[in-house]
Amino acid sequence: MVDRIGPRTTLMASLALLAAGYGGFPFVRHPWQALVLAAIAGAGNGGFAPSHSSLLAALTSREQRTAAYALQRATDNLGFGVGGLAGGLIATTRVPESFTLLFALDAGTFIAFIALLAFVPKPTAPAITAAIRATGRYATVLRDRAFLWLLVVVAVLVAAAYAQISTVLPPFVKEHASVSEAGIGVTWMDPAAVEPAGAFAIQLLIRTRAINGSGSVMGTTIGDAHETGGSAFVYYDRVLQSAHEREQDAARLLAYAIAHEMGHLLLPPPAHSPSGIMRPEWDGDDLRHIASGSLQFTAVQVNAIRAKVSGCCAAAVAGTSAGLP
Ligand SMILES: [Zn+2]
Repeated sequence: MVDRIGPRTTLMASLALLAAGYGGFPFVRHPWQALVLAAIAGAGNGGFAPSHSSLLAALTSREQRTAAYALQRATDNLGFGVGGLAGGLIATTRVPESFTLLFALDAGTFIAFIALLAFVPKPTAPAITAAIRATGRYATVLRDRAFLWLLVVVAVLVAAAYAQISTVLPPFVKEHASVSEAGIGVTWMDPAAVEPAGAFAIQLLIRTRAINGSGSVMGTTIGDAHETGGSAFVYYDRVLQSAHEREQDAARLLAYAIAHEMGHLLLPPPAHSPSGIMRPEWDGDDLRHIASGSLQFTAVQVNAIRAKVSGCCAAAVAGTSAGLP
């Protein structure tokens, strides 16, 4: 196809197939329709890479080629990242229409690519002489046994390894690694636009797993917490482990770990104190108080927290669960 009608036209046709295939998914009502659309998108995918590479090769000089292909790969990967993030932010199982939007946007990117290709010059096709035509036949390719075996090996490897990524990885991530839709999100903050300058904002994030290198603590805070606010992290795996080792109720220990980290955000540093919730480490006595619900902030700390929260007009607490079971 690339040799007969040129890489640019082949690429445009491939993109049209991709747009039709993915754009049709929201209209699927029976399994066979999905199969047909997947085949259409698959044909487009099959034509995309070779024609795209040929087009790049035809439009660049030998010296430019390394940079051109490097840029292509880099933008490919950028696209994978942005696509994954956009998909995670847009699609949600609670709103089925969000998937329609996602597929429509996806199809739109292929159509936009076609529109952009209109501005890309059509490469001059190399003359195909009778001699080249005589040797360049599929029959010749099919007689090449080593090449055929290479194709078989590639097909087996792709089916055995690559295909698993799209079929096995998502269920694994959801069922075993506890990644849920709530675990995907981006917070954009422009304090100057949303709130008066100097506004104080804090957020609490419960992570299913502790951050590497965080020692053995159950949580931590980041940011210039007392002045401008910051983020508190509580590590659910550490809470669970600690609750198990010390025979504590995990929910209660989690609540106290949250209270301790919030204390770091609301109290002037150093927030630790020799008694109460803000002790750097809870001992047996503290754990008994936790079990009975009587471990508390000191009176001084309570007053300081009250003053902090009421003194600044906006104290926002945002809770994000990263897939808590
Ligand atoms: Zn602490």
